[in-house]
Amino acid sequence: MAVVRSVPLRARHAGVAGALLLAMVLPSERLSAQLSPETPPSNEVSYEQRFDELRELQAVPNRIAQVTKLVLKRDAGQFTFGDGKFYLLTPIGGHTMGAVFTGYGVFSFSPPTRVEQATLVRFKKTKTLEVPFSSVVLLFADSTLAELESKLTFGPGQPASDPRQRFKEGIDYLAHDDSKSFDPDLMAAFLNGESSDLFYAHIDRQGGGPLMFMLNPHEIEGVTLSHRVRHVGWTRRSEVISRFAVGGKDRDTGITGERVHQAAIRRYTIATTLKESGSGDLSFTANAKLDITTESPIGPWVAFSLFEKLRVDSARWEAGEQATVFKGKDASLLWVRLDRPLQPGETRILNLSYHGDLIDRYGDFFFIKSSAEWYPRSLEGRSLATFDLTYHSPKGKLLASVGDQVETATAGRMTTSRWVSPGPIRNAAFNLGIFKDYQIQEQGIPPVTVLISEDAHRLLGGLRQKNMKETVGSDIARSLRFFQHVYGELPVKRLFATEIPGAHGEAFPGMVHLSMWTFQQTDHAGEDEVFRAHEVAHQWWGVGVDFTSYHDQWLSEGFSDFSGLWYLQTVRKDNARYFGILRRWRTRILERHEEPGPVWLGYRNSTSKDGNGYDVTVYKKGAWVLHMLRIMMLDLKSMNEDRFTETMREFYGTYQGKRASTEDFRRIAEKHIGADLGWFFDQWIYGTEIPTYRVAYRSDPAENGQYRVKLRVRQENVGEDFQMYVPVSLDLGNNQVARVRVKVRGSTSEIDLPLMPSKPKAIRFNDLDGVLAEVKMVDWRE
Ligand SMILES: [Zn+2]
Repeated sequence: MAVVRSVPLRARHAGVAGALLLAMVLPSERLSAQLSPETPPSNEVSYEQRFDELRELQAVPNRIAQVTKLVLKRDAGQFTFGDGKFYLLTPIGGHTMGAVFTGYGVFSFSPPTRVEQATLVRFKKTKTLEVPFSSVVLLFADSTLAELESKLTFGPGQPASDPRQRFKEGIDYLAHDDSKSFDPDLMAAFLNGESSDLFYAHIDRQGGGPLMFMLNPHEIEGVTLSHRVRHVGWTRRSEVISRFAVGGKDRDTGITGERVHQAAIRRYTIATTLKESGSGDLSFTANAKLDITTESPIGPWVAFSLFEKLRVDSARWEAGEQATVFKGKDASLLWVRLDRPLQPGETRILNLSYHGDLIDRYGDFFFIKSSAEWYPRSLEGRSLATFDLTYHSPKGKLLASVGDQVETATAGRMTTSRWVSPGPIRNAAFNLGIFKDYQIQEQGIPPVTVLISEDAHRLLGGLRQKNMKETVGSDIARSLRFFQHVYGELPVKRLFATEIPGAHGEAFPGMVHLSMWTFQQTDHAGEDEVFRAHEVAHQWWGVGVDFTSYHDQWLSEGFSDFSGLWYLQTVRKDNARYFGILRRWRTRILERHEEPGPVWLGYRNSTSKDGNGYDVTVYKKGAWVLHMLRIMMLDLKSMNEDRFTETMREFYGTYQGKRASTEDFRRIAEKHIGADLGWFFDQWIYGTEIPTYRVAYRSDPAENGQYRVKLRVRQENVGEDFQMYVPVSLDLGNNQVARVRVKVRGSTSEIDLPLMPSKPKAIRFNDLDGVLAEVKMVDWRE
């Protein structure tokens, strides 16, 4: 039916909301962004004027220099400008912040880490780039002007039309005219007259599409190299192919977040009105009181993100004076001009009224188009804040929100409810609909409320499962109980599971959104149980323990996928489907012949060439990594798995309410296994190799009626150092099974197993799918 097709399709498990808003960085001493003391008072200049000014930059007459050889080095990038000309561009707010080179030159780029070298190989078939160019457009807030002026002599001349043309083409990748959008960090530098290490180069390659190189002190991984991706939404778009911290060390384990030097909103007080029109559509308006703070001097212009379809109606400072803000048409950035730069420890309170096309209606379903960007957020998107949220909504439509519900009242045709977060949380969301509520109150777990649009399902047609609320609710309550048992208590008073007319799920503190499809029917493979439990597991992984940066996102998504499987196996007692799903995921992982990236690369595994890389690597392989750790920690004699459970429990207990990295998890796992696990994480999180084992065995009679069993394992597709402890089970007849664990390392291993009491009838190498690998049993004589 049309209603189904018109529902936006998104990937399942959209994850912890906000997580995809990538941003970056940390207090790196090397990178500093300060406000230049000679910043001119720019109160006269509006955002639009500055944007237009930027668009119109051109070469200044008499500011032209002949170049024969000039080298400009910026971290891992080096420009060698050969024969040609440098043109300085018109100043922005009194500062020269741009230049154009035309002529011949070479750009070289060497990423410092193994992971980034391998990534560059995937994109460009080389570890080090060395590309000739015919022009370069530079934008900068750093020392570039001083360097150029000290090495070149700028003098008379009338610029040709070429530099202007080159500039226009280059800037098309940064600017979007309809929405007046521009890279927020470059734009902030231009608006604020910032002096920092910010540097951007658009490189017109000879014999290839353009490259963009950037040094951004506002990002923890401040060095990026991008290339052109054709026609995606905007007229032109680029894609990051290399990203690392300035002076990056091999395997950047010091990554502590994603951005620095940004304004943050620490407290939100938002009154939202949802009004139903005659046609049944819901309009959205909000009055938000925002407490804006910062940890380093910033401004006066600061950028926040806000859903593109939302428009600002008014903006006032606390005392009532009008605030200057700018939000372009369908732009996802909200610019706020503070009365003066904000200093650490200061707070400015902005009252912002806005409204817009946030909610779509499909039959009796309501779809909130942006679950996490319906209020202004800092660019990193995951800053902690407290929320005091009031909703005025049509009587009879049920609403759920994050936070504790402290008041609710109905007057006339409106219901007003107020929700307050008990402490700082990373994101806030709400959902409403023509819901029926289904309550689950059980001893030992927080109460669960399932909000379901039961009647709307009649329109969907097709198979519709009976008892949909009971079926879904049971997985929610049972997985909640199981995870609480294995991981630890949750700090929420209630868990809402609400239905959304989408194909994905999402998790927020105390609330999960579940796709309508998992209410409509339950598949036979176990994927629906895993999907429901996955979203519940985010209360521990992602919401409870946040990940440090995108590199560590498998601690949220891989952990939640694994948790769903663990629930399926342990609570639903379905061993076969646990392994069935693991094997299907393995097939998807092995299918990715396009040189897959490591788990560590996070979202960057999805590229213009491979849209599924993130899902397969971070979710599926991430879950496999946890499964492998579980099997490695398993006591094969007693099948006791306390070591694994204790690892997970301690990890949650230690990092609940904080951010954790892969290395934090490794330390706790090492403590419980009692050995170094560096090799394990190197192979499976930072590396990409997956072994194939060719296995032969023979058994020969030995003394006292026993048998000597010998394994010969050829290990392929991995380096000589690659090692794993592989479980092997031997069927000894009479319902007797022997289990051992063998260490496989190097290209060929001959392994003597302990003497067996009888001749094995069969051997299962890589029992319990203990290793993500392909296994081929071969004859001993092969
Ligand atoms: Zn998820």
